[in-house]
Amino acid sequence: TDLDPADGVRALELDRAHVFHSWSAQGSLTPFVIAGAQGTEVWDFDGTRYLDFSSQLVNTNIGHGHPAVVEAIQRQAAVLPTVAPAHANLTRGEAAARILALAGSDFGKVFFTNGGADANENAIRLARLTTGRDKVLSTYRSYHGNTGAAIVSTGDWRRVPNEYARGHVHFFGPFAYRSEFWSDSPEQESERALHHLERVVQAEGPASIAAILLETVPGTAGVLVPPPGYLAGVRAIADRYGILLVLDEVMAGFGRTGDWFAWKNRDLNPEGIVPDLFTFAKGVNSGYVPAGGVVISESIAHEFDERVFPGGLTYSGHPLAMASIVATIDAMRDEGIIENAARIGRDLLAPGLARLAERHPIIGDVRGLGVFWALDLVTDRESREPVSPSVVGALKAGLLERGLLPFTADNRLHVVPPCTVSDAEVERALEIYDEAFSALS
Ligand code: PLP
Repeated sequence: TDLDPADGVRALELDRAHVFHSWSAQGSLTPFVIAGAQGTEVWDFDGTRYLDFSSQLVNTNIGHGHPAVVEAIQRQAAVLPTVAPAHANLTRGEAAARILALAGSDFGKVFFTNGGADANENAIRLARLTTGRDKVLSTYRSYHGNTGAAIVSTGDWRRVPNEYARGHVHFFGPFAYRSEFWSDSPEQESERALHHLERVVQAEGPASIAAILLETVPGTAGVLVPPPGYLAGVRAIADRYGILLVLDEVMAGFGRTGDWFAWKNRDLNPEGIVPDLFTFAKGVNSGYVPAGGVVISESIAHEFDERVFPGGLTYSGHPLAMASIVATIDAMRDEGIIENAARIGRDLLAPGLARLAERHPIIGDVRGLGVFWALDLVTDRESREPVSPSVVGALKAGLLERGLLPFTADNRLHVVPPCTVSDAEVERALEIYDEAFSALS
């Protein structure tokens, strides 16, 4: 209501003059200015509204400005806005109890961090201390964060300029559409990827490997839904060699796949395997206050009953973050938000994106579940050659022009609205995608 376009100009000027941006050359940036947001919508200072089908960095699972979460943060700020991690705090205990109730009885404790990267750092630390081994195996197509150890666990290009820690080994996970294993079915992809992983374990020396670290559904790498039997197969390999299984649920957790955790989703994990540790951030409180953490199995938690845990963060269990976690989990449960994400995926996005692919040959593959989807864009369906960055740039511009804020990565469009997205918003987004793809050709 009281938006002033001059503030938009000033926001951009200040940003370009003073703000150093992530993952960018600073010279040629024109960041999209957001003035405010509510639910699935964001708006600029001109009052133009956009459907946020990026969920920012795939983190606003509960939508923007959820009143119960905002109010919980305000209430906590008035009572106790900060506290050292060593002190006990009621809100922190409430947050941990809620997360553990969702995780189930295999898990004993939660260690809170500031975000996803440091959650993975601490999961790796716990795995190394518990096993007395140092190597960590993770996949090339992954992202685990941007701090020292997490960035070298990362499989993609972001690792290379940061590769200074030791003990990180990469392998290829399954990806049927762009198989490294010449497989021609998801079952074969699963079997061959498991064979490859076991050979990597044997070649690295099983007694040196502390953990296998996996995104349950690799997200930024392209929503790589694991094929049948893969997660259970990795669990079996880990068990065979005394290796811990750490699942990174930073992007996939808290509703994204239509379940509280991706590893609890029966479509992804029908065998019901359980990790030793799993990490979370993003959707746990939709990023209203930075937060993340590690959920620790009962037995690993007991390892540290007598032994000192050599890790910590000034803001571990920050009260504003904890209040937002409690309110987020309660709202997600009471308002059926997880169920909404599952239904939207099954009834609207799965058929809607399949129809889109029928109409536009540039869409080579559609994969995902819940509110977690990727369209793999190709120059032709035979060769599956990825489209160039200029095509993705043109698509992005076309979507913005039509009122949709997209998420793109490499040659892909990720369809990742909040878990609270409505049927009408999905229908509108599908129309916008259709128009923008038509305008490309
Ligand atoms: N793990 C996964 C799967 C992620 O997608 C991300 C961020 O995108 C991270 C870890 C890192 O989280 P953060 O940026 O909060 O450190």
